[in-house]
Amino acid sequence: MDTTILKGKPVALKIKEQLSLKILDLKKNNIIPSLAAIIVGDNPASKLYVSSKAKAFSNLGCHSEVFELPKNTTENELKEFISNLNDNDQFHGILLQLPLPSNLNEKEILKNISPSKDVDGLHPQNQGYIMQGEPKFIPCTPLGCLKILDYYKIETKSKNVVVIGRSNLVGKPIASLMSQSFSYGNATVTLCHSKTKDLNFHTKKADILIVAVGVPYLLKSNMIKEGCHIIDVGINRIDDSTNKKGYKVVGDVDYDSMIGKAASITPVPGGVGVMTVTMLLSNTVDAAYNKLLQRK
Ligand code: NAD
Repeated sequence: MDTTILKGKPVALKIKEQLSLKILDLKKNNIIPSLAAIIVGDNPASKLYVSSKAKAFSNLGCHSEVFELPKNTTENELKEFISNLNDNDQFHGILLQLPLPSNLNEKEILKNISPSKDVDGLHPQNQGYIMQGEPKFIPCTPLGCLKILDYYKIETKSKNVVVIGRSNLVGKPIASLMSQSFSYGNATVTLCHSKTKDLNFHTKKADILIVAVGVPYLLKSNMIKEGCHIIDVGINRIDDSTNKKGYKVVGDVDYDSMIGKAASITPVPGGVGVMTVTMLLSNTVDAAYNKLLQRK
């Protein structure tokens, strides 16, 4: 079987084309979509993610500002910082880069971001809207996965979808959305996690697999049904002495072994990751648009 490689780049390019028209329209109304990104501490991976997000914003003529707070920032200080950004009309979106240092309670702090600026879709109100089938801001990674399925015309209606991983960031929202009566939904969804007994039993029944775990090569070719579609969300660094950097980035899926057995698969890197940044732009443009609509 020929396996289609579901690259993120063409999908992202198409979405960016649509976004640039919206951005132009906003600029005519003197609005430049703007993101405030907060990093607490000095996690190098977080800094890298945020700088790539900032670059994507400036490439499309949008604005972003990165606020780096020290590792010893207290919960109250961070809440106050977020509250000031909520009140600052210059910013349409607020991104709190995770993970936070261990002394800070992520769930508590995320509740302080104004739902109208929650472009990462992690506020309980926005997660609730997803559950109720009226999404406002969908977290960027699940939204990116749905856009990939749409672009490559992978039918979801009446299919068996198996999601592995139940985080608020990826697994739970995508499982909820794909089970609902949406254009990329109407699937029969099974949500697997670290306490699932006999993962193989579930994965072998899947027409579409969404894997968001954080374990390199967790999904092997003997665990899938021939002809299934695979969306690999995982981003893992593993040692690689042949690489100049000393490591390489791999997904949660044993990619090479899937070629010839799966109908399609996203590569890592070059698949879902590309989409996450694009969907952050898209959500921020939507937040800026909401502001414009309020004015009219
Ligand atoms: P998380 O740690 O919050 O959740 C991991 C989930 O995997 C948990 O729900 C857990 O129950 C499940 N799990 C762990 N071990 C398992 C096992 N052996 N079998 C079945 N389930 C198991 O992680 P997350 O934030 O959802 O991220 C998951 C992966 O996706 C990570 O590699 C992360 O780096 C990556 N990620 C990528 C992007 C992107 O843009 N591509 C964005 C977000 C996260």
